[in-house]
Amino acid sequence: MNRLVVLGGAESGIGAAVLAKKNGFDVFVSDKGKIKDDYKSMLSLNKIKFEEEKHTEELILNADEIVKSPGINDKSSIIKVALKKGIPIISEIEFASRYTNAKIIGITGTNGKTTATSLTYHILKNAGLNVGLGGNIGKSFALQVAENNYDYYVLELSSFQLDGMFKTRLNIAVLLNITPDHLDRYEYEFENYIRSKFRIAQNQTSNDVFIYCKDDEITNKYINLNISEAKLIPFSIKETVEEGAFLENESELIININNNPISMSIHDLALQGKHNIYNSMAAGIAAKVLEIRKDIIRDSLSDFENIEHRLEFVTKVHGIDFINDSKATNVNSTWYALESMNSPVVWIVGGIDKGNDYNILKDLVKEKVKAIICLGTENEKIHKAFSGIVPSIVDASTADEAVKRSYQLAKNGDVVLLSPACASFDMFENFEDRGRQFKKAVRSL
Ligand code: ADP
Repeated sequence: MNRLVVLGGAESGIGAAVLAKKNGFDVFVSDKGKIKDDYKSMLSLNKIKFEEEKHTEELILNADEIVKSPGINDKSSIIKVALKKGIPIISEIEFASRYTNAKIIGITGTNGKTTATSLTYHILKNAGLNVGLGGNIGKSFALQVAENNYDYYVLELSSFQLDGMFKTRLNIAVLLNITPDHLDRYEYEFENYIRSKFRIAQNQTSNDVFIYCKDDEITNKYINLNISEAKLIPFSIKETVEEGAFLENESELIININNNPISMSIHDLALQGKHNIYNSMAAGIAAKVLEIRKDIIRDSLSDFENIEHRLEFVTKVHGIDFINDSKATNVNSTWYALESMNSPVVWIVGGIDKGNDYNILKDLVKEKVKAIICLGTENEKIHKAFSGIVPSIVDASTADEAVKRSYQLAKNGDVVLLSPACASFDMFENFEDRGRQFKKAVRSL
């Protein structure tokens, strides 16, 4: 019997373990931290052996193959030893894809993955397809392969998941954009991260489709080196493309596949902001490639409900709009948030900086931001970048304080925008916690 060891006992790991057990593997799950009770009961229910708060080498290094959670760094000691022993290490996505013949739509990019993935799933679901949503979002892909029998999967794929993928073939691959992020996991080499993103296309054939943003500098620079077989379908808001998506007269969104165009006004899109035009274009093309009816695509792009923490409108207090964009954890996503603001902004920013270059925000900040509230344990870099550009820059040490300060600084007609451009772990559990604390503070003003 083949032995499969799963490292990391959270969503993806538990899914992989259940699927492996179902397929007759000798399965063992090992987590260096604590495993949540829900997951432990699932393991027990499926009679899967596990350990927590340790990695016992004798129980791990006898594996024929290891499934590694995307959260575990390649540099961690157990991975190094396993690699040295020559044990293949794969991601849960790679493992699960062996057990399904469904059509797979995989979506990656530095920003916009969750939005574009949810939007694509929404269209496919509205079209009545038997479709699952997975990857970096919701229930794991592996668990769905074990328990459901979907004909289609829409998967959000992070670069860490892509790193553990070798043979998985995606029928439709979407690459939204590439800007520097997570460089701490890529030897601080941007090229390594770029290569990781392009793995999304690595096994595509001439029957498959690669959807990409023609306005993205890095994607364009590397595309010819990386894509050989798949049919390329671009989207752009700057130029017209023959086949793909583009804007006509700046406000009409056209998606033209197989000379059968569909058009709709960008004002009818449920998700507003330039970045969301890109996300809507990507999702619309994927749906059109699957030959979903035009009216379903149009309706779905206009009735989609925004997801929490992504430019989420919280409420209006005394004429001031409060917006929660806690998921903006890098400068690029904050650029799009600021870009889409149409009133003077009191901007709440800060947290753990993953090597931010604030220069790219300076023009927008000068144009739109009237005050900055720094919400992080170390705010010096923000003060340095924007003093002289923004008249008022203050520090806050809790979400509550940040909201109170912003409320004092804003006036009727202004917007208070939480778009931190940083990770949240210095003060919060995660970006969701940060967003929720912000909303709670706003609601108790
Ligand atoms: P991801 O899953 O890749 O982290 P999300 O869909 O959760 O992306 O969006 C994260 C943040 O990135 C949002 O808060 C938004 O401000 C910004 N964003 C969304 N789509 C794009 C895009 N296509 N390009 C740039 N920024 C985007």
